[in-house]
Amino acid sequence: MNSVYFSEEHDLFRTSLKDFLQKEVVPHIEKWEKTGTIDRFIWKKFGEMGFFGISYPEAYGGLNLDLFYTVILLEELQKIKSSGFAAAIWAHAYLAMTHLNAEGDERIKKDYLVPSIAGEKIGALCISEPFGGSDVAGMKTTAVKNGDAYIINGSKTFITNGVYADYYIVAAKTDPNLGNKGISIFLMDTASKGVSATKLDKLGWRASDTAEIAFDNVEVPVANLMGVEGKGFSYIMQHFALERLIMAINAHARAEYAIDYTIDYMSHREAFGMKISKFQALRHTLVEHATEVEHCKVFNYAAVARLDKGEYVVKEATMAKLKSTKVADETIYSCLQMLGGYGYMEEYPLARLFRDSRLGPIGGGTSEILKEILGKMIIDNQNYEPAVK
Ligand SMILES: Cc1cc2nc3c(=O)[nH]c(=O)nc-3n(C[C@H](O)[C@H](O)[C@H](O)COP(=O)(O)OP(=O)(O)OC[C@H]3O[C@@H](n4cnc5c(N)ncnc54)[C@H](O)[C@@H]3O)c2cc1C
Repeated sequence: MNSVYFSEEHDLFRTSLKDFLQKEVVPHIEKWEKTGTIDRFIWKKFGEMGFFGISYPEAYGGLNLDLFYTVILLEELQKIKSSGFAAAIWAHAYLAMTHLNAEGDERIKKDYLVPSIAGEKIGALCISEPFGGSDVAGMKTTAVKNGDAYIINGSKTFITNGVYADYYIVAAKTDPNLGNKGISIFLMDTASKGVSATKLDKLGWRASDTAEIAFDNVEVPVANLMGVEGKGFSYIMQHFALERLIMAINAHARAEYAIDYTIDYMSHREAFGMKISKFQALRHTLVEHATEVEHCKVFNYAAVARLDKGEYVVKEATMAKLKSTKVADETIYSCLQMLGGYGYMEEYPLARLFRDSRLGPIGGGTSEILKEILGKMIIDNQNYEPAVK
């Protein structure tokens, strides 16, 4: 099945990426999980290897490769025992940088996209706010034009890379009376006067830093408005298709990792004089999960193939995230059970996977919000169009 989507070149890329991750990342994961700080050198190395640029234009240092290279990057990042590290990488490469590439002008691309691809600058996407993440149109942060600058006031929360990033892509209301049509997006240097970020403590994703951010009269040059004023909401929604697909792929990959690890464990662990892999109750549970995960994977790949051809797969991406994150949580819950007490121990990967996985149905649109979107599309026949075709 995989050969439908993956060529020999893709396979070679996967092999060299795996090798790179084992040599350059895995030895540091435990430290980063403890400190919640990923050392800068690894960002540079990712940049040197071209990993941040795989789907971006060559003109800015990227490799302009098809989306299945991104799938490989995402999948392998899920298999090195830290969804937090993975999140820091993909939030930079596919949340912040997607906006730079799509809505940034030439100056922004030169000054921010190029160093982002090189791993010299780290980005974060700031949409969610303390008083509401699901209701994006209800955001309270404002941007008021004053001469050749916008003055931004408000706050954001749960922002991945928010503490250590060099720049933020910030959504703010340029016209609070216009609801979602009054939202614009801005590029903001994190060193700007009036920006302060506080690190949040959290259940999982512990290697990645998550911030609450306050903007106190932050001056952003008019030239840092991204795209057209008032179109921010449409840009955000358009890019959610990719973000949701990314979270779906992450989910099927971590579930697959959990299953592979558990099968190996079951083939060594004995109870009542036999390998636990021989107990029918465990076998049946495991293969049911494997079946569900494979279904998700096939669905996710099909959606990626369509997105790669330029189709706006908002419905499929929404379904993909909804289903895959649920399946991942259920699979990892069962796999942890199959390790018995060891499943609960930090020395074994299931405990961290269990914590990390729980973010799947919350971040990037909760499962409830995804069902609302699907309800509008499937039951009310509502059609969602991309902001830029
Ligand atoms: C670790 C982490 C990293 C994150 N990274 C980022 C990031 O980089 N950038 C960013 O902008 N955001 C980020 N988020 C925020 C994330 O996208 C939000 O947490 C999410 O969208 C939900 O918003 P909320 O937390 O405000 O929940 P709320 O919107 O307050 O929702 C609370 C509950 O009510 C439910 N609910 C809300 N509205 C409805 C409805 N209409 N119908 C039914 N149920 C409803 C929700 O599903 C949820 O169960 C991150 C979050 C976490 C935890």
